[in-house]
Amino acid sequence: MNKKIISLLIIAIIIVGTGFVFLYTHDEPQADGNAVKLVNKAAGDIRKEVLAEKERMLIEKEKAREKKEREKREKAEAEKAKKDIAIEQNIVEEFIHGDKGKEYQKYIVLHDTEGGSDAYNIIQSWVNQGKKVASHFIISKDGTIVQCVPMDKIAHHAGFGNNGHNEKYGVTDESRDDRAGTESVGADYSDYGMNSYSIGIEMLHNGSSGEEYPEAQLEALDKLIAYIDNYYGNESTIIDHKMWRTSNSDTSSEFAGYLQNYMSKRRHE
Ligand SMILES: [Zn+2]
Repeated sequence: MNKKIISLLIIAIIIVGTGFVFLYTHDEPQADGNAVKLVNKAAGDIRKEVLAEKERMLIEKEKAREKKEREKREKAEAEKAKKDIAIEQNIVEEFIHGDKGKEYQKYIVLHDTEGGSDAYNIIQSWVNQGKKVASHFIISKDGTIVQCVPMDKIAHHAGFGNNGHNEKYGVTDESRDDRAGTESVGADYSDYGMNSYSIGIEMLHNGSSGEEYPEAQLEALDKLIAYIDNYYGNESTIIDHKMWRTSNSDTSSEFAGYLQNYMSKRRHE
């Protein structure tokens, strides 16, 4: 072999040797390590994603469960409020004028007492009058509700209407009323008609004084209307005494806005 070939061989051996040394000491092991790291990192990321997704799903599930629980609780509370409304019972037998089956219930008639200090005082004044006139419920200014006639009994609180209202409201008969107390009540307060188809509610209020209805009294009325609706399973038409008999003062003008709300939304705002 000549010198040139020997030189080339030596160079080739050096190059190959360096390559091996390089491969085994640097590139390949390092390349393997990086790949493993990359794979591990990718696997770790996927595991993290899966865990995060699982956690998100659990949170969503928990939120849905809490929402359902809350809705259930609110519904139960609303039902309870309807059933547990605080109504003080003070039934007066002489105010009862016969049976009033659920099928006859059509109206809730709102009145003003035009005086009085509390519900019991009003009931006593009706007893003293001896005319057997009363509404089913009286609401005091502090929101106390007292019932003196059961809802399935007729109370004399509205009688016949005027200005064509009997026909307008479809209340023209008097057949289910015992008429007791008629004579002493007189023509202006005839006893039948509307009584057989309605629940009467008196608001302790003096219309002529121009006083406002206290918030507690209005809130009690909200509850009582809800209670009556719940009892009958439908919404009775709400009117006030004045809509039935235009000559009556109740309810007074300060109540007009509330009455509109009661007729459409069944609560004051
Ligand atoms: Zn009235």
